[in-house]
Amino acid sequence: MIRAKLRRKIAPRVQLGHPWVFANEIDTIDEGAQDGDIVTLFSHDDRFVGQGYYNSRSQIQIRLLTRDPKAVIDEQYFLDQIRSCWHYRQKLGYTENCRLVFGEADGLPQLIIDKFNDYFVIQTLALGMDRWKPALVKALEAVFNPKGIYERNDVPVRELEGLPQQKGFLSAPFDTRIQIRENGLLFHVDVEQGQKTGYFLDQQDNRRAIQHIVKDADVLGAFTYTGTFEVHAAHYGAKSVLGLDISANAVQMANANAALNGLSDRCRFEVANAFDVLKSWGKEGKNYDVVMLDPPAFTKSRETIQKAITGYKEINLRGMKLVRPGGFLVTSSCTNLVNSELFLQIIDMAARDARRRIRQVLFQTQSPDHPIVWGQENTQYLKFLIVQVQ
Ligand code: SAH
Repeated sequence: MIRAKLRRKIAPRVQLGHPWVFANEIDTIDEGAQDGDIVTLFSHDDRFVGQGYYNSRSQIQIRLLTRDPKAVIDEQYFLDQIRSCWHYRQKLGYTENCRLVFGEADGLPQLIIDKFNDYFVIQTLALGMDRWKPALVKALEAVFNPKGIYERNDVPVRELEGLPQQKGFLSAPFDTRIQIRENGLLFHVDVEQGQKTGYFLDQQDNRRAIQHIVKDADVLGAFTYTGTFEVHAAHYGAKSVLGLDISANAVQMANANAALNGLSDRCRFEVANAFDVLKSWGKEGKNYDVVMLDPPAFTKSRETIQKAITGYKEINLRGMKLVRPGGFLVTSSCTNLVNSELFLQIIDMAARDARRRIRQVLFQTQSPDHPIVWGQENTQYLKFLIVQVQ
């Protein structure tokens, strides 16, 4: 057993259940502890705290896997954890496609596994988890007998752990452009070239939330990626749908997704910078019954949070101005550091500046296959808001 000991005076976070232990919270660690090893953590007065993996190169030197002193961290442990994650998703009815493992919220720090029917995409974002990749692949094979497993570790955060960015097959090679079904619609997902793991499963329930407001509507979507919200809008009876994204690849996929569902006559996508286009269309007096916005995270660090606030305010202001009186703005934020309260304040500021009155129709978060653990702020990240704009 490799022992690590906490300092006497540290924030109560770890004792309260948070899995992260920062470098300045560790008093001593046994000599010979290697980066990536499992260590057993004790309090300053030698009470057992938990077991987790260690990396001296990371700011977060220990990430706890368990609070059970008897747990044995081995291949079987990861198999049991994967089974338990799957049990939870099945219980909630997220079986065909789901985030099977949502990192810290599932007790598996820095591990993401998305299930796209018979295909799985894995991200191991810390060294201590990366070491167990073969065990995780074995576990997926044992539980699901998948058609394919793909690694999307081309993520910059891995470098903070001393890990290379990489992607590739963890099973026999397969055609990485797969198809999934969501809410009765079909979508192409490119697990090799797509953004993140290829598809944003966290919005799967929110896409259904637009069902009634888009009926007979002229709809504008911006930051559409592969067009999921827009294809839903067309399917739910929108008169016309136009989607904009800055990425030509995304737009091509989005148009392919409209075609795949036989909706190309009413739903099309164009390459555009949403910030510029929404501004000039506002000046021209264009308008829509529904405007949908789903921009990428504007910041990942506290230092640049003001940049995110400005970005959200700007784009929502421009979006709102394009909404016909009585129409709707559908707006999302996935920036972790912009919490719900702040996000609503920003939308309020945007409405004031746009001189429009708004009322909240619906405000929700990510789908329950991305569970939220209270006290671990980064597990609640998605804000999804519909407002009616007068
Ligand atoms: N709504 C999508 C996810 C959007 S992800 C879904 O549910 O799947 C954010 C998208 O914003 C990305 O596809 C990215 O290419 C696009 N994007 C980033 N900056 C942009 C800009 N200035 N104008 C338009 N699109 C932009």
